[in-house]
Amino acid sequence: MSTREQIKQWMQENGGFVCARCGAGLEDGDYDWVDQEAWCRSCLDERGPDEEAVEGMLVELIRTAECEDATYGDVDLSGASVNTFEQACLLTRDRGVVLRLPGGQEFQITIVQSKGAF
Ligand SMILES: [Zn+2]
Repeated sequence: MSTREQIKQWMQENGGFVCARCGAGLEDGDYDWVDQEAWCRSCLDERGPDEEAVEGMLVELIRTAECEDATYGDVDLSGASVNTFEQACLLTRDRGVVLRLPGGQEFQITIVQSKGAF
């Protein structure tokens, strides 16, 4: 059994399975996990973009720049490739992107959310 299933079971046995933020009761399918906490749909909506969303945005930005033959300072992105840590099979739970430049240089950019919306 996963840690999340254990948390869910423990909560159900101890007074209900509720949103960790607002305390609303959770039904199957109307919640998601934020770290090791279960959050209801409306709290998730208010939370805004997370590390995964920023990761997707960075990949899209770099790929779009690549198509435009963009050079920023000394960095020429026209022949570069970009992948998420997950796509690059990095053994980490961090979110981020791997940028490979045509010259062979490779950069790992880790995304760490340092502040929430509330
Ligand atoms: Zn909630």
